[in-house]
Amino acid sequence: MTDPVYLDHAATTPLRPQAREAMLDVLSRRWGNPSSVHRWGREARAALEDARARFAALIGAEPAEIVFTRGGTEADNLAVLGRARAVAGPLACSAIEHRAVLAAARAAGSDRLRIVPVDENGVVDADALAGVLREGTPALVSVMWASNEVGAVQPVEHVAGLCAEAGAAFHSDAVQALGKVPVRVDRVRVDLLSFSAHKLGGPRGAGVLFARRGTRLHPLLFGGGQERGLRPGTEDVASAVAFTVAAELAEAEREQAMARAAALRDRLEAGLCERIPGLRINAAATQRLPTISNLSVPGADPEMLLMALDLEGIAASSGSACSSGAVEPSHVLLAMGLPAELAGPSVRFSLGRDTTQQEIDRVLEIFPRVVERVRT
Ligand code: PLP
Repeated sequence: MTDPVYLDHAATTPLRPQAREAMLDVLSRRWGNPSSVHRWGREARAALEDARARFAALIGAEPAEIVFTRGGTEADNLAVLGRARAVAGPLACSAIEHRAVLAAARAAGSDRLRIVPVDENGVVDADALAGVLREGTPALVSVMWASNEVGAVQPVEHVAGLCAEAGAAFHSDAVQALGKVPVRVDRVRVDLLSFSAHKLGGPRGAGVLFARRGTRLHPLLFGGGQERGLRPGTEDVASAVAFTVAAELAEAEREQAMARAAALRDRLEAGLCERIPGLRINAAATQRLPTISNLSVPGADPEMLLMALDLEGIAASSGSACSSGAVEPSHVLLAMGLPAELAGPSVRFSLGRDTTQQEIDRVLEIFPRVVERVRT
């Protein structure tokens, strides 16, 4: 039996050894409560504040603008719902946002939600957004930095400009973008930015919300005053430190790693297009994350496709990881205007830092066979 091939790194990617070491170090040596005044507390506090300063430096922020959360979902919820509770007005979200954004916006009241359409490549329609902004200043505009499903990188600089002109706060979900494309808040005028550790080799259940100084936001949880009152609860210092270590490594390796991933992704797509009639590469005609390949396989049963791949030892995903298990076509592909016959049978391969050419070649050998089987 050959080794299994894991191509679902956008769902989660293995913990980096350096992040694990950093975590263990905090858990075993600096385990105090950062709010305690004694030396155990002070040591934990120092580790947490060091992580905060380093994370801030990585994205061009100030340490006071970094809020450690328990994951990307929580960062998104805090940005969207926290903003909605602090400021009146509509919430304008792109149609391809992660459910952590869309569901949070709906929870604020569906009458407040304005969906901004995307084009056939999954890129937000800036003219439509400008139209929404002319109707009245939203409490928040939310356009993700890069799509978790198709990888399309969004025109965040342009969106930031439109929002600044209109006086609207701009939130971007950068969960899939950090470590893959440059993400800097000193270059792009974004007010709120969400991150998640486990997408780049940090632990699950760790996230960050960047909240630019002066951005009005209400907390979603209540308790102590930790994280400037925005995320009360005793801080998970080990996760915050490990996230920072992983993010620093991902950023340091970014250019080389992405060039490598792009070459492998291109090999995968070219090879599969040659071997599978009717295969469609989604979001092909726009800038994409080099790590994501989203393919529509007309005529194939989506669930059987993934199950057959799994039986062959290949891990991929259909739609976003959080919604797999649900049979309805991806809201992202539907928003891109794909008919149900293309949006339904879609597969997302996502590459990681250790993905090899041998693994890609194995997919090239197996996937066409699997497609043939589930098409008949
Ligand atoms: N936003 C995007 C774009 C994601 O891909 C994910 C993870 O699937 C999340 C938010 C949620 O992050 P977490 O798993 O840390 O809650």
